[in-house]
Amino acid sequence: MRGLSLTLLLALPALAGGPLVVVDPGHGGDQPGAFGPDGLIEKNLALSIARKVKAQLEKELGATVVLTRDRDAVVHLSERVVLANKKRPELFISIHANSMPTAQQRRLNQGIETYFLSAAASGEEAKKVAARENAEVGSQPKGASGDTLSFILADLQRSETHVDSSRLAYSIHEALISETGAQDRGVQQAPFYVLMGLDAPAVLVEVGFVSHPEEARHLSDAEYQAKLARAITVGVKQFLVQLEARDGPSTSLGTGKKAD
Ligand SMILES: [Zn+2]
Repeated sequence: MRGLSLTLLLALPALAGGPLVVVDPGHGGDQPGAFGPDGLIEKNLALSIARKVKAQLEKELGATVVLTRDRDAVVHLSERVVLANKKRPELFISIHANSMPTAQQRRLNQGIETYFLSAAASGEEAKKVAARENAEVGSQPKGASGDTLSFILADLQRSETHVDSSRLAYSIHEALISETGAQDRGVQQAPFYVLMGLDAPAVLVEVGFVSHPEEARHLSDAEYQAKLARAITVGVKQFLVQLEARDGPSTSLGTGKKAD
């Protein structure tokens, strides 16, 4: 090591493999999610953006990225959690798009929201978003009965992860708003099934409203999707830099996995 220049030493962590990230495109198969004008469907949009996020994270951070689905197929919410935990990622990002039910609301509501998990929603709108995104739980045994107590207990045990999820949400959200100029609907909290039981800092991004005529046009555009992906990558990087400053280089941008 002695012969290496300082610059090279600083560059080494990124070369060593980068972080392991699970990116989760919402919905899929016969669970399409929200519908927008001109045939825009949330499941397709989420997959398209997730693939771009994967490419950006690999390129910019040397990350290893696992998608919970890479085709138009049903993957149950509990399966996504199990799959993610098996990979033992350093973070988890779920990609969704928002929608409003009535014509007037569809005209008026646009913008980006970034969520992290909490037992109680941060507001009525956040509660509705979680209800819509949780709707496909259907007959799944886990979570379907809303086992609130065990969830809260498990969540308390993961409190450091919880704080990190909040940090990750703010970091990604700020980058998204500054990169896209989209309306800032804030960092929110809600009980999303897909974020429950994850052992890594985890967020769910509502990248915009497929139901808003103008925002739907942006979201359909490959350039805009790439912008979202770049912003998410910037947010991830800023989060990992913060984490590294706190926990030391072994955790994040460095050698990949934390030694337990
Ligand atoms: Zn969704």
